Amino acid sequence: MEKWKYIDAHGHINSGAFDEDREALLALHEEEGVAQIIIGTDSKESAKAVLLADPRKGRWATVGQHPTDNHAEEFDMELYRSWLVKPEVVGIGECGLDYYWPESDGWPTGETVEKARQRELFSKHIQLARATGKPLVIHGRPTKGTMDAYHDIIEQLKSEGQGVVGDIHFFVGNTAVAKEFLDLGFSMSFTGVITFTHDYDEVVKYIPLDRIMAETDAPFVAPKPFRGKRNEPHHVREVYAKIAELKGIEPEEARIQIVTNCINLFKLT
Ligand SMILES: [Zn+2]
Repeated sequence: MEKWKYIDAHGHINSGAFDEDREALLALHEEEGVAQIIIGTDSKESAKAVLLADPRKGRWATVGQHPTDNHAEEFDMELYRSWLVKPEVVGIGECGLDYYWPESDGWPTGETVEKARQRELFSKHIQLARATGKPLVIHGRPTKGTMDAYHDIIEQLKSEGQGVVGDIHFFVGNTAVAKEFLDLGFSMSFTGVITFTHDYDEVVKYIPLDRIMAETDAPFVAPKPFRGKRNEPHHVREVYAKIAELKGIEPEEARIQIVTNCINLFKLT
């Protein structure tokens, strides 16, 4: 696997933001030795991720439905099951709970109804993870100033997800929340956000090097020095470098361990 110098643990090269130049970017990533996990957010984006997956070229897919990206879609369990038998589909998600509603908008269908809907959708992903043994890619976004969505995810994993593992993507929790996810056997991944704020320095230092991953969430949140531009999976190099810096270790040591973590979690071959 030394063919891949870096792996972006979570990106959306399947997104419409890359429709104009996707092929050129994919060729560039391959040349640079940057592999990527392409993440589905609903049935359409999952189908695109599956089509783009090509392990020989360093591309794998996950399939799932984001808690709030597509309110209109009914989750089709059988469709997801049919993708999950493919070896290039290495995970389930992104799925989870998102409580980040701008105060002015409020909850779209009222808090109780919306939370129940998200919980049920997340539950179906947990069932798929139990049935297939593939890891969950979890999106958790708490209400501003709280850890509420993480607490509910932890509770749901404890009650329904025995034996299930995965990654908490775009982790924005504190060390207490990180400890709970570590105890459940989960890893956490960080985005370019850690290159331009000190808010997560402490939690990055806290999480053991063998349970941490780097991601771009491209096309969102480009790291320094690409801020404000469209993010691209190869910019994950900046996140690897920042994790090494925060942990006070050699960049090469961090790189090798983070790539290994990705290979192990998603069983990449
Ligand atoms: Zn994402």
